[in-house]
Amino acid sequence: MLPTALSVPELRTALFPWREKGESVALVPTMGALHKGHLTLVAEAKKAAKRVVATIFVNPLQFGPKEDFAAYPRQIDNDKKLLAEAGCDLLYAPTANAMYPQGFAVKVDPGPLGTVLEGAFRPGHFLGVATVVAKLLLQALPDAAFFGQKDYQQLLVINRIVRDLDIPVHIVGLPTVREADGLALSSRNAYLSPEERKVAVTLPNTLKDVIAKIKSGGAIEQALVEGLKKLEAAGFKPDYLECADPNSLQPVREASKPARLLTAARLGKTRLIDNMAV
Ligand code: AMP
Repeated sequence: MLPTALSVPELRTALFPWREKGESVALVPTMGALHKGHLTLVAEAKKAAKRVVATIFVNPLQFGPKEDFAAYPRQIDNDKKLLAEAGCDLLYAPTANAMYPQGFAVKVDPGPLGTVLEGAFRPGHFLGVATVVAKLLLQALPDAAFFGQKDYQQLLVINRIVRDLDIPVHIVGLPTVREADGLALSSRNAYLSPEERKVAVTLPNTLKDVIAKIKSGGAIEQALVEGLKKLEAAGFKPDYLECADPNSLQPVREASKPARLLTAARLGKTRLIDNMAV
């Protein structure tokens, strides 16, 4: 059975003997309901470090009042089995009270990166993400921490807080793991009905379409407008489809510049995000 720590003291007690022996530690933060995307992070972390600590914490601070915090899938027993199989050494699954005890008041503000794109549609989201990730990193003090490019803006925010707060950890960002048809794996895909699941592939396909248009010399603005139309025609309600600088996330409209295409769109009651390099 996978050893599990539920509090900061339990986490530090579990880490102590490894640190005494000089063993390296990699952290893989998640919200659980694990899929192959998460397990790839664990497998890669295991190649990079002697010990892998996965965390499961559905962070209330990063959900808006009308978002899916209560409904978010929780399946800790199955997750533990998958983590053990993937080579994880320890699960850190703090209780909400362990993470945010009575009187908790300090939050980490990631600055402008946290207010564009996802941040504009989910006010306070990255304040919650930055706070919980900073806490997880300081609680575990790993050598490295592994994140997915699936949440591209989140990865940029985390790189920024580590840099600006001098947290001594190496951040590793790994490519998005996708289904055979191209849909990015996500715990939220479980919300999709079978019909919605078929439509969902339009999201990565639209990204590919827009990138192809830009690469063949089409105007970026026009390609984005057509991409939004394609999403709407398929039944999506897009929040944004943006071609942005891969570091600042400010809009890019010149094809000669490096760029990332990012999107968020709702299909029924499910909100999906995806992104690709242009
Ligand atoms: P979550 O449980 O959704 O908070 O995700 C935990 C970590 O897994 C984050 O670093 C995500 O970016 C990463 N992740 C989620 N889905 C994927 C995916 N399809 N491919 C790669 N990484 C992913």
